[in-house]
Amino acid sequence: MHNWARNQACVPADVVFPTSIDEVSSVVSVARDAGRRVRVIGAAHSFTAAAMTDGVLVCLDDMADVIEVDREQCRVRVQAGITLRALSLRLDAEGLALENLGDIDVQSLAGAIATGTHGTGAEFGGLATQVEEMTLVDGCGEVRTLDAVSTPEEFAVSRVSLGALGVVCEVVLRCVPAFCLHARETIEPLDDLLSDVAGFAASADHAEFFWMPGARRCQVKRNTRTDAPPRPQGRVGYVRDKIIAENLAFGVVCRVGRRWPALAPRIARLVSSSVSERELVDVSHRVFASPRHVRFVEMEYGIPLEHLDAAMAEVRGVTASLSFPALFPVEVRVSAADDIALSPGFGRANAWVAVHQYRGAPFEAYFQRVAQVMDAYDGRPHWGKMHFSSAADLASRYPLWNRFAVVRSRFDPDGVFTNEYVDRVLGPVRGEPTP
Ligand SMILES: Cc1cc2nc3c(=O)[nH]c(=O)nc-3n(C[C@H](O)[C@H](O)[C@H](O)COP(=O)(O)OP(=O)(O)OC[C@H]3O[C@@H](n4cnc5c(N)ncnc54)[C@H](O)[C@@H]3O)c2cc1C
Repeated sequence: MHNWARNQACVPADVVFPTSIDEVSSVVSVARDAGRRVRVIGAAHSFTAAAMTDGVLVCLDDMADVIEVDREQCRVRVQAGITLRALSLRLDAEGLALENLGDIDVQSLAGAIATGTHGTGAEFGGLATQVEEMTLVDGCGEVRTLDAVSTPEEFAVSRVSLGALGVVCEVVLRCVPAFCLHARETIEPLDDLLSDVAGFAASADHAEFFWMPGARRCQVKRNTRTDAPPRPQGRVGYVRDKIIAENLAFGVVCRVGRRWPALAPRIARLVSSSVSERELVDVSHRVFASPRHVRFVEMEYGIPLEHLDAAMAEVRGVTASLSFPALFPVEVRVSAADDIALSPGFGRANAWVAVHQYRGAPFEAYFQRVAQVMDAYDGRPHWGKMHFSSAADLASRYPLWNRFAVVRSRFDPDGVFTNEYVDRVLGPVRGEPTP
């Protein structure tokens, strides 16, 4: 079993594909009685070892249906193994949509929620903020249904949980009426974007930019909700931009850079200059998500929006002094504050800074130095992306950390849902809550 980036692998003792909540409950109970550990794997798109185990690996591919759609209330009840793409297509057919998405839509719903997966947009929180109810099987095999009214304390901590509280089996999501996005992609100087971060964040419903280290200009994407009729990109343009330029050609360029790193500055200029400006109107999920065939590793931090300019100045310094260059762009996004205990967006609007490196190229020095920069700005790492922090570093960055620890010790007293990564970033289950 390995993840998408192929930087994490494991050999589970057993892999199970339950088809019902009762089956999940029995899998957990049997594993617990046998002293085995359990992890759930979604689409294996995390860069960390969050889903890896040498115990029982639960795969919810057979629990991936839409159970109920309430068009009036814009709500949907689904099984947690459904992918974001399948869900988006089904919602579209019902005249509904997810209010926001990240760069891709192949993740499982539960996996994306568990790690705090987000898109961009100053007014929008991550996917977990759209959850209205969750049904999970806890570490004792007990089925729990959580929502903001009947179980407010548990609900506040359970959405972004890294799977450490139980196997999420069903989710009720708040949706929105289906909508189109007016997408505009432009090339703009990095200095201009950073000189007015708040203005940039407010410049569209969903604004983000990609900066190739060494380049002066960025690719900027602004997606704005519109009532205009769809004007999608033609098939030829899509294949040219999304398949050839962003994947095939970019993959070749990365391979060249990995083999001959001295060419990286020229590559940066080539990548930046090959990006074209474009404009289209299309259904939201087709605009938000793109195919990603070039494999990479990634680290991403949320920092308070007001620190973006200063932090990026330091990131530029880091990228300029690396002995092995960054071959992938730095991506910058924004998100709204939320109230979810372990969400990186808890209590504050974030700017997100994501650094990537082409698979197989050295990344450790680059990521470690950027992590130091982010730490200095109260950065909170994305739970599904690479980082070097442990529970001792992270506890003070989350005001409700101890509340999560208390619920965890109730839901999973025997540490059934632990693995090396979870132990590292959340600490031991029965340990004294970190002060
Ligand atoms: C190419 C690429 C692009 C990406 N783009 C973005 C982006 O735009 N924005 C963003 O925020 N992130 C992004 N990510 C990160 C990705 O969204 C997260 O890592 C997400 O968790 C992956 O979902 P998954 O279904 O693959 O989950 P996995 O990686 O399989 O699992 C993630 C975690 O969720 C747990 N889990 C899974 N299912 C359940 C369940 N049913 N119950 C309890 N726990 C469960 C697992 O145990 C694990 O801890 C990207 C990753 C890749 C590889």
